[in-house]
Amino acid sequence: MASVTLHIQSPPLNHDVVSLPRNHFPVVTFKTTFFGSSLTANGKPLSLRKTFRTQPVITSSSSSSSTHTFDVVIIGAGIIGLTIARQFLIGSDLSVAVVDKDVPCSGATGAGQGYLWMVHKEPESDTWDLTMRSYKLWQMFAENVRTQGLDPLQELGSLLVGRTAEEAATLKKKVKRLSEAGLRAEYLTSDALRLKEPELEVGKDGGAAFLPDDCQLDAQRAVAFIQKANRHFSTKGRYAEFFHDPVTSLLRSDSSSEVEGVRTSKNTLYSKKAVIVAAGCWSGSLAHDLFRESNILLNVPVKPRKGHLVVLENFSAFRLDHGLMEMGYVDHLHDSLDHKSSHSVKVEEGQALSVSMTATMDTMGNLVLGSSRQFTGYSTRVDESIINHIWKRAGEFFPKLKELPLGDFTLDRKVRIGLRPYMPDGKPVIGPVPGLMNVIIATGHEGGGLSMALGTAEMVADMVLGNPGTVDMAAFALQGRCC
Ligand SMILES: Cc1cc2nc3c(=O)[nH]c(=O)nc-3n(C[C@H](O)[C@H](O)[C@H](O)COP(=O)(O)OP(=O)(O)OC[C@H]3O[C@@H](n4cnc5c(N)ncnc54)[C@H](O)[C@@H]3O)c2cc1C
Repeated sequence: MASVTLHIQSPPLNHDVVSLPRNHFPVVTFKTTFFGSSLTANGKPLSLRKTFRTQPVITSSSSSSSTHTFDVVIIGAGIIGLTIARQFLIGSDLSVAVVDKDVPCSGATGAGQGYLWMVHKEPESDTWDLTMRSYKLWQMFAENVRTQGLDPLQELGSLLVGRTAEEAATLKKKVKRLSEAGLRAEYLTSDALRLKEPELEVGKDGGAAFLPDDCQLDAQRAVAFIQKANRHFSTKGRYAEFFHDPVTSLLRSDSSSEVEGVRTSKNTLYSKKAVIVAAGCWSGSLAHDLFRESNILLNVPVKPRKGHLVVLENFSAFRLDHGLMEMGYVDHLHDSLDHKSSHSVKVEEGQALSVSMTATMDTMGNLVLGSSRQFTGYSTRVDESIINHIWKRAGEFFPKLKELPLGDFTLDRKVRIGLRPYMPDGKPVIGPVPGLMNVIIATGHEGGGLSMALGTAEMVADMVLGNPGTVDMAAFALQGRCC
């Protein structure tokens, strides 16, 4: 097995195309096996959860413009864009370029809590098959990565908790439906729940739906791993990244008016097979701008839905052994622009905020509390009043938190903010632009983009390669949803 040492120091010089930047990682030793690598540190297997920190910052430093040709050009290096790239690389012999206006994880992906959960999903819903397929693919991914000494998924099990008799009744029905759909699911009374999570207080009428197989993923680490595996293909001339390089326009053929590629701020990228728009919440405005130049009116109604998460580092007041979410999260998720959930609060005049308790401990022992949902445009400014709402809501479920003033955590507190790509009808849009079969949009996953990423990637690759597909694609088509 080859052994390669990668360093973090020097940026690539005068290069717009970034191909396996060996000089851009923290020092880590790889024993290359499968397209990724078998990571070792000091000769010992390395667990992703402990020491693996590769978030290479890759910049295109040249201002001169250059032209490149690939089979597929993907706009957006979030979890959706990067997993689509991965799917083409491992499932075909096509060459792929990923373009981002910034860097990977700079969008919603970097903020995600990482729940790969089925507990709050509904069998028979449009997204059920896609989420189930993704869930299976994540498990296969994890198995593969585990053989290389890494452990990207925490199999914590999930608890969807209710505090009233009414919520408990709903949870019991939910458990029944999830069990009938083939998942291991169990209803826990408040006494049984106390044994699982002693600090959680749901009152005597409360209870929880428990799914022992639900997992949690560290998005930043998973992305780092996927990126590294993708970069393995750059040595074969099949993969390149263009970061800090926003896409500015489409290239159209004079004769057929087919889309032939994209122009970025620094480069011209031709695509022989397809252009994929996976630009998260920016996909709507981007598509609008790109197509307006071609006199095509395309309105993808995806909107940024801002979310705050509070991370208390090295939290030691108590520990959690599962991922938790309150029942109200389900309404909170499906709240529309004008409908407010039961946990809605008014923060500023005319601006609805909904906060729903989510709580988990990540692999580093940090307590991660969420989450908020707001429509406030593209701003990612931290709002302290929202942090206070999240803290207060968490305190209603974990009384011990009420004894701990949030101000005590000033030094150990981090806030993660992301803009979820929200689609008004609650499901992603994945499909070709009508009349332009070689341009595919893949966005609108809102709060489930991590969960649905691998299934989405498979679906997009199947569309381009002409494969029949594992999951019915029709429910995600643009027709009737984007005009
Ligand atoms: C607080 C929070 C908690 C969450 N928790 C979970 C969870 O537990 N489980 C789960 O499944 N999901 C969760 N999500 C949702 C999940 O993070 C998103 O659905 C997912 O990250 C969306 O990925 P994406 O690739 O579509 O978008 P993004 O990650 O936003 O990536 C889009 C990329 O496109 C790039 N881009 C935009 N415009 C251009 C341009 N003109 N040219 C080039 N590039 C461009 C951006 O820079 C960005 O990098 C959470 C989200 C938030 C905010």
